[in-house]
Amino acid sequence: MAEPLKIRVAKDAGFCFGVRDAIEKARKTASKYGKVYMLGDIVHNERVVKQLAQENIEVVDSLDEIQDAPVLFRAHGTIPALWEQAAQKDIKIVDATCPLVHEIHDEIRKLHAEDRKLFIIGDHGHDEVIAIQAQVPSATVISNIAEAQQVPRLKKAGIVSQSTQMIENVQSIISILSMKIFDLRFVNTVCFPTRRNQEQIKFIAPDSDVMIIVGSNTSANTRRLLEVSLSLNPRSYMVEKAEDIDQSWFSDAESVGVSAGASSPDDLIAEVVEQLRNLHVEASAQNEE
Ligand code: SF4
Repeated sequence: MAEPLKIRVAKDAGFCFGVRDAIEKARKTASKYGKVYMLGDIVHNERVVKQLAQENIEVVDSLDEIQDAPVLFRAHGTIPALWEQAAQKDIKIVDATCPLVHEIHDEIRKLHAEDRKLFIIGDHGHDEVIAIQAQVPSATVISNIAEAQQVPRLKKAGIVSQSTQMIENVQSIISILSMKIFDLRFVNTVCFPTRRNQEQIKFIAPDSDVMIIVGSNTSANTRRLLEVSLSLNPRSYMVEKAEDIDQSWFSDAESVGVSAGASSPDDLIAEVVEQLRNLHVEASAQNEE
């Protein structure tokens, strides 16, 4: 007998308020000025970027390419040099930096004012981390335990984290550094939507036969959710779209949990859920009894 899968979707899966607000601002600006430019994609999601391109929200590589329309600075923050350059070029700036990212910038500046050696727990080369680092003259990025172990003994240091870091990674790094640093001040700047997303996965993943994480492989945040999910349920898969779902993942499965990265739009999540609804699995004879 074929039975539909039991589907549980994490309550806050998908766009965080920072990304949602940035997209809203981009749309409003484009409709007011006829166009808006962005230095890089607003979210790491191809579908959203393509949709926005049709609404005159254009991605450029440099401020030199911008003419007669504002530039929108994205949710994950922008280095001060670009703010200055845009002002010099008389380009109108629409600030879509997430307030929680502004807070990280404030915190690292405060730690600098306290004359501490500075560290950022985050991904090397990620735009958000680059913008945090640029708020102070010098800050070292630590992405994992191995790098934390390389840090020498220090008298005084201050640490912030990238907003989307995995809590466990941050905790492990802090516990290593706290053994090496006499006066350590850590400001936990993992944002609450990230924490909430990770917590909800921890609740759903162990209790589901299969876990589906909706998002793009280019999104660090989605990759991290997959990591959390895999640590609790080896049958966890990332899909960029509904068509990526492979029926073979569901042999003997009765339940599936769904979550999504902060860059996955609601309509994409709904399509994935719909596709899962259409999957029918053969309930095992044992369960039929
Ligand atoms: S992930 Fe967190 S900090 Fe980043 S934009 Fe979303 S809410 Fe803001």
